[in-house]
Amino acid sequence: MKKGKVYLVGAGPGDYKLITFRGLEAIKMCDVIVYDRLSSPRLLKWAKDGCEFIYVGKEAGNHTMNQQDINKLLAEKAKLGKDVVRLKGGDPYVFGRGGEEGEYLFNEGIEFQVIPGITSAIGGLCYGGIPITNRGYNTSFHVITGHLKDESNELDFSNLAKLDGTLVFLMGMKNLEKICKGLIQNHKKIDTPVAVIHWATHSNQQVVTGDLSNIVDEVKKHNITSPSLIVVGDVVRLRRVLNFHERKPLFGKNIIITRPEAQNESITDAILDLGGNPIPIPSIEIKDIWPNAPLMESIENMGEYSYIIFTSVNGVRVFMKGLYDKGYDLRRLGNTKVVAIGPATANALKENGIVPDIVPKKYIAEDIYMELVKVLNSDDKILIPRSRDARPYLVDELRKICKVKEVHLYYTESAKNNREILINTFKEQDIHYITFTSSSTVKGVMDLLGEKNVELLNDVNTVSIGPVTSNTMRKFGLRVDLEAHRYDMAGIIKGIIVKEEVTDGVDK
Ligand code: SAH
Repeated sequence: MKKGKVYLVGAGPGDYKLITFRGLEAIKMCDVIVYDRLSSPRLLKWAKDGCEFIYVGKEAGNHTMNQQDINKLLAEKAKLGKDVVRLKGGDPYVFGRGGEEGEYLFNEGIEFQVIPGITSAIGGLCYGGIPITNRGYNTSFHVITGHLKDESNELDFSNLAKLDGTLVFLMGMKNLEKICKGLIQNHKKIDTPVAVIHWATHSNQQVVTGDLSNIVDEVKKHNITSPSLIVVGDVVRLRRVLNFHERKPLFGKNIIITRPEAQNESITDAILDLGGNPIPIPSIEIKDIWPNAPLMESIENMGEYSYIIFTSVNGVRVFMKGLYDKGYDLRRLGNTKVVAIGPATANALKENGIVPDIVPKKYIAEDIYMELVKVLNSDDKILIPRSRDARPYLVDELRKICKVKEVHLYYTESAKNNREILINTFKEQDIHYITFTSSSTVKGVMDLLGEKNVELLNDVNTVSIGPVTSNTMRKFGLRVDLEAHRYDMAGIIKGIIVKEEVTDGVDK
């Protein structure tokens, strides 16, 4: 059997977008991904369907799988003809044991490639606001392991102390005190600036600064643990100016997103780019009503309808499924005018080759009605393919003018499997915002939390996409801390940013 290849891929320092183009290519094409704690699980979503994921995470002192077993695993999978990506934090060769994996594969006769990554020793510092070199500050940098194979084997502090370059210690948190003492005893200036960067590049990045004499106390005071980078050198002073990451508008904010996963990509990316931490916990699942005789019948009779109104992305998806299933395409819509409730639905239509004739300014049913009332007469006939759970308002009002056919395409159920995840997330993390993008997501969250856990929402900002969702929240006894001005996800993010700016101002 033809053997597979192994790719030793550097995932970059944390933020998943800091992987290389070549690394992402390997992830997209491989059959197996072997990953660990420092490589972002967000990268896994680019793997092809059916790709096998194997976690071999190492937390300090708690090895899930030892190196020898990892080597064997890579070789075994390749021998089965599978292409394997070994995803490693930072760069595979910077204290990453990539060399050992390569040697093992070479000896087993397995082809491999190494794809370099941005090491945390450089990229992590960068996000901590610290350039590893800076003109006039230093002429070299040195990356040192703070975790010694044999703990009694001291680093050569007399040489390290003489270097004027930036010193970066990886895996050094257990030995921080030893490192500082070693440098001081060997005459490194006691006021040399030191920074400790915890979870660099992430939204929960934490940086503590001081000098060789006090950094140990500072770290204790802030309870900083591994993984952290220890930086010793004058370049640490530049952090005050170059600390771009922590100045992003949503930096450090944990934001729960309750809508179904399929619709989340653009929103999670937007939050990440703004420095925030999106936590997707869908509170509902979308269930298609399929097979769907009423849908098929209306597609057959499409010519009777003068208007078709889409009120959600899911509605567009299921409708198109019906159209194709019958062997039709867009031409079936003929002269029927198309209405979309808002830009997300309009985009979904455009992706399917349909440019809607009408998109109301505010993205709610009331506004569709206001637009349509201007143009409809009693001869019109309207098709509304939508959720079974939608409010009756639109259909009821339009029926006063002309014939309306409502077809149910899908319904929502609360995502019961996420109950524990949701409750534990509130208990374990400091959640700043929870977003509700429809009345169903509100019902879903209330259902998952149950009455006795509703108090978990007390200290969390509750964000609503618009007035209809807000009403549902109030009906359930929830506060509405923020309501988007534009009734879509972009409006929600804008609202959160503005709220953060205002809060910042109060703090200052
Ligand atoms: N190959 C990796 C390093 C592996 S050693 C690289 O090139 O970055 C593991 C050590 O790297 C951790 O103990 C910590 O010191 C450092 N490290 C890696 N990612 C980090 C991050 N996001 N934040 C802080 N330290 C990190």
